[in-house]
Amino acid sequence: MAQQVAERFYQARKRFFEGLSNKPKKKKPYKFLSLVYPESGWRLSNTREVGLGKNRNKRKARLLSKIGFFTLIIHRELPEKQVSQVCVKLEPSGRIHVIFLVEEPEAKELPSKEPKRAVGVDLGITRLATLSDGSFLENPKPLERSLEGIRVLQRTLSRKRFLSKNWLKTKRRFAKHHERVKDFRRDLFFKLGALLVEEYDLLVLEDLNVQGLIQKSETKRRRLRLHDSSFSVLRAVLEWEFLKRGKTVLALPAYNSSRECFLCGGINQNLTLEDRIFHCPHCGFTLDRDLNASLVLLKRAGWVPPFQCACS
Ligand SMILES: [Zn+2]
Repeated sequence: MAQQVAERFYQARKRFFEGLSNKPKKKKPYKFLSLVYPESGWRLSNTREVGLGKNRNKRKARLLSKIGFFTLIIHRELPEKQVSQVCVKLEPSGRIHVIFLVEEPEAKELPSKEPKRAVGVDLGITRLATLSDGSFLENPKPLERSLEGIRVLQRTLSRKRFLSKNWLKTKRRFAKHHERVKDFRRDLFFKLGALLVEEYDLLVLEDLNVQGLIQKSETKRRRLRLHDSSFSVLRAVLEWEFLKRGKTVLALPAYNSSRECFLCGGINQNLTLEDRIFHCPHCGFTLDRDLNASLVLLKRAGWVPPFQCACS
């Protein structure tokens, strides 16, 4: 154990001096939650198939290591010989992840296909995602909905003696709560990504500066909602799904994308955050605010979709 701490400190210091990361911080012992094994020091045994149908690749195995054994569910094929590192990570909620680091010779580059169908996606707080085809996904705001429970747990935690058994127990319940919110979001994002990648070859997104948005927000509620929407995670998931299938993702500068008129390109300077409807002062074009923004993105990417205005 002490050897591990020394090794990690050495690695962190090296990375810092190479300019790769921030200055290493002192870590409190109760926050030390992971354990790294090099090539040796671990072994898999009792591997057997457990998955059915789509999950046929799932295997159950037993990881034998110096601190005991874990029963694992393996989600994908794993070349056991090429594993260079195994990390056993204890999540604050008590869930354990075992991460196998595999060195691959060279990532296969999928040939990018010529995109045929493109979609613009505008991310927002009211509607999490608005597609340029007119459909949208409401923002489920998972964190905001579970806030009451979080408050109760926070209060319980503050009454416990720091680092006592009961404190640790409550801390774990607290972490579980947050983990559920996180899992819900990830699941939702992956489902949205799967739907989009099924339909489209090119995804046009805004290159949002989320940290900047959060800092600029005036109300606490807006900041919370921005955090709750996890735009960065959403974008990462969508990009991952598209690139995995050799499709393209374009991230365009977000500047004025919701103020610009899709039809004539004029800028509506008076549009505020509360306006749900975009009305162009130059040509009179009127459309849902988020839908207009997603169409503007598509237009900026050089894809002007056929558009019939319902109002004219
Ligand atoms: Zn206009």
